[in-house]
Amino acid sequence: MQSIPSEPTELDASRVIVTLTDRTELKTVPSLAELARGRFSQAMTDHMILVSYDPVHGWSAPEIKPYGPLSLMPASASFSYGTNAFEGMKAYMGPDGIPRLFRPEKNMARFVRSAARVALPAFSPIELLKLIRRLVTIETRWVPAAKGHSLYIRPMIIGTQSSLNLSVSDSALLWVMCTPSGPYFRNTRPLSLFAATDAVRAWPGGTGEHKIAINYGPTLTHHQNAQAEGHDMNLWLLGDKITEAGIMNFFVVLRRDDGDLDVLTPLLDGTILPGITRESVLALAAAHPSRIVLPGLSEETRLHPAERVLTMPELETWLAEGRVVEAFAVGTAVVVSPIGRIAWGGKDLVLPQFGDALGPVSKALRERILDIQEGEFEWEDWSVLCA
Ligand SMILES: *Cc1c(COP(=O)(O)O)cnc(C)c1O
Repeated sequence: MQSIPSEPTELDASRVIVTLTDRTELKTVPSLAELARGRFSQAMTDHMILVSYDPVHGWSAPEIKPYGPLSLMPASASFSYGTNAFEGMKAYMGPDGIPRLFRPEKNMARFVRSAARVALPAFSPIELLKLIRRLVTIETRWVPAAKGHSLYIRPMIIGTQSSLNLSVSDSALLWVMCTPSGPYFRNTRPLSLFAATDAVRAWPGGTGEHKIAINYGPTLTHHQNAQAEGHDMNLWLLGDKITEAGIMNFFVVLRRDDGDLDVLTPLLDGTILPGITRESVLALAAAHPSRIVLPGLSEETRLHPAERVLTMPELETWLAEGRVVEAFAVGTAVVVSPIGRIAWGGKDLVLPQFGDALGPVSKALRERILDIQEGEFEWEDWSVLCA
């Protein structure tokens, strides 16, 4: 048996070894028109971060190097047992020509938690963020300077112990890659959701609150079926309880008897991914109008954000009573998207429609979040420069 030193080396951004792609080999950055056509995920940028962990040495000196294939043992633990966690975050171009990240320390903290859930080694979230800021700085020419556009950043960690035994992977590989992205949904056309009644995405005591690969692959057959039926994605339920819309957090806005608005989202019970957009929506809704006036919303409109159990029968009742102002889904990729209808157990729940636009609350939130992300509006410490 290998002996594990009591103090393997910590992840240390100051040890980074940067190898830049030869100038003549740099890729062509896609135009805004190409980005608008292709959604995201086609072209990775020129460089990536790569760092490995083994029980003897701990974390290796991190590398920033040309994007390229990995070499892995076929018996790597990740392939058999899904010891694999990831993040999704974006860099946005500011008016000053400096890219910035949106609340990136939240992504780093979630990444460490997700990795721990599949028993992968811990690393310093602060050091990883330093490396990501350095990478984004190197890739500045890839950060599109247009509203609603960004550089999508995908950190990943996988277990690489070469063993078919089901055991904790004592070694790991961590990398970060980037791809430019246009607006995820080309417009704000309302989403059509298909509520899955024969499968669940997550369950009590399961792993739904973590960004780990095993939560996503098994949803794809249902996603495919929903799309074949003309829907955009699934609404994931747990019995009657609403959990998430595809890989986005769910919100519904209700008019109260006193004229104020409730902004409701399912509470974090372990089956819900704790989205950073979700948390930001709740915070901005709570700040209106005392600390911030959201664009287009009157100062008389009080918002009451709350995390609570939401069920389909409740939603049906609220719709019948005419109390639903709007429903929407939120996540890093889309920011905020309106929900137009939900097919559920043979019923077709139609939500308030605003043509091809967002409702009043989601529009206000989307605009404010985009402005913060793109450096047009300063709010607390939510925007972190890469310079
Ligand atoms: C990533 C993700 C979200 C959104 O989280 P953000 O931090 O806002 O991007 C929501 N649901 C699921 C299942 C996710 O994987």
